Amino acid sequence: MVSSVLVPRRSRAKIWSVIILLVLLAVVGSVSYLGWRQSVRGVVSLTPPPRFVGARTALVFTLEAARGNVAHAEIRAVQGANSAVVAKQEGALGRRVEIPVLLESARLGLREGDARLEVWTRDDFWRPLRRRDRPVASYPVTVDLTPPKVELLGATRYVASGGSGLVAFRVTGASRATVSAGKLAEPSFAWGPPERGARVALIALPWDTTRGVPLAITAEDEAGNVASRGIPSELRPRRFPRDTIEIKDTFLQAKVPELLPQRSPSQSLVDGFLVINRDLRREAEETKRRIGATTADAPLWDGPLVQPRKTKVFANFAERRSYRYRGREIDTQVHYGYDLASTRQSSVPAANRGVVVFAEPLTIYGNAVIVDHGLGLQTLYAHLSSIEVKVGDTVTTGQELGRTGATGLAMGDHLHFEVLIHGVSVTPIEWWDAKWIRDHITQPLREAGLPEIGTREEPVRRAPAGNTPRRR
Ligand SMILES: [Zn+2]
Repeated sequence: MVSSVLVPRRSRAKIWSVIILLVLLAVVGSVSYLGWRQSVRGVVSLTPPPRFVGARTALVFTLEAARGNVAHAEIRAVQGANSAVVAKQEGALGRRVEIPVLLESARLGLREGDARLEVWTRDDFWRPLRRRDRPVASYPVTVDLTPPKVELLGATRYVASGGSGLVAFRVTGASRATVSAGKLAEPSFAWGPPERGARVALIALPWDTTRGVPLAITAEDEAGNVASRGIPSELRPRRFPRDTIEIKDTFLQAKVPELLPQRSPSQSLVDGFLVINRDLRREAEETKRRIGATTADAPLWDGPLVQPRKTKVFANFAERRSYRYRGREIDTQVHYGYDLASTRQSSVPAANRGVVVFAEPLTIYGNAVIVDHGLGLQTLYAHLSSIEVKVGDTVTTGQELGRTGATGLAMGDHLHFEVLIHGVSVTPIEWWDAKWIRDHITQPLREAGLPEIGTREEPVRRAPAGNTPRRR
């Protein structure tokens, strides 16, 4: 009792108020801390699934916990009164977790129509009051188990290796329709009156296509249901000529430093040539394929492609070339175009109407121009000494694109000319020939009852004779 005697009353009251204040602060602090823990949001689902699910649909759900780890994750497919667990994971799954799901509609008893995908999940973050299990996300989906319908309307009867063809068809209930020759799958385009719902596709048969390579139309809907139908075209293999090219030192001295400026001094000219002839050639092929995807979804051309006047073919399409140096074969490659000889630096005319989609140096092709004629049909002009058009220019048949030259891997001034379908080289012979086009492109469209392609009613505007376009 000594202290009570010594401490004055006013001071005791002060101590008590401090104690009460501290207790109050502790209580308020604890309550707000517990309140904060309780309020921390749980796990969220970051990736909504696609709107449609099919017979077998693979999905990935990404879940993320705000604090702690995702501790429990369950994906349920709900339709009417049925609820089925399609994926489940438990344990400390990490702050962010990916749950792969393979939805097999038949096994889950899903019928066509509306359904829901629910994400049930929990974290391991401690909260004063445990939360009830509940779906953190619920996504409406449509179950679609009906594959698209593919109906063939017409197709080129006889196709040849290194040649072209056309197929007309109709698909119902599809969001994507491609046409394939072997491994190459190419797009198709709506054609004719919209109410008919017809599509067309040009087909390229690479030069080495053999009998038995399947030609097919494949349609896919948004739910991933796929339908495929064979194209009843008969393939006639073609034989292509062979040629031998002698590589001279003077040629190597002129071309290798030009085409391979970063070559190391230890690399011989002939090794440099092989890099150009193999790697740079392959790069150019890849560029052609990439540019082939940039095409108008309507035909821009009108009538057969036009061969430049007064030119002589001196190397053929799909010629197999053996390269010889000092008496031995050092390489073999395939020549994808026609070499056309004329006078030096002669005018290079556009083979038909179109839009310039490429106008710059292209490795072995030197200065090159690619003109898009729509629906995947393109023409390539190579080894030019000058280019007089730019990407985006609309060109008319016969309009000057540039002048012939010997840029790239060319031995002398000539025009290297290619016809491409979706970036795959095909023989120009077919597209130069009005009768071939009638029998192989127009005929299947007639069978299909569709309008002709590449025969416009409006008059063709040709570049006036003697017109010299601007030089760049
Ligand atoms: Zn050539």
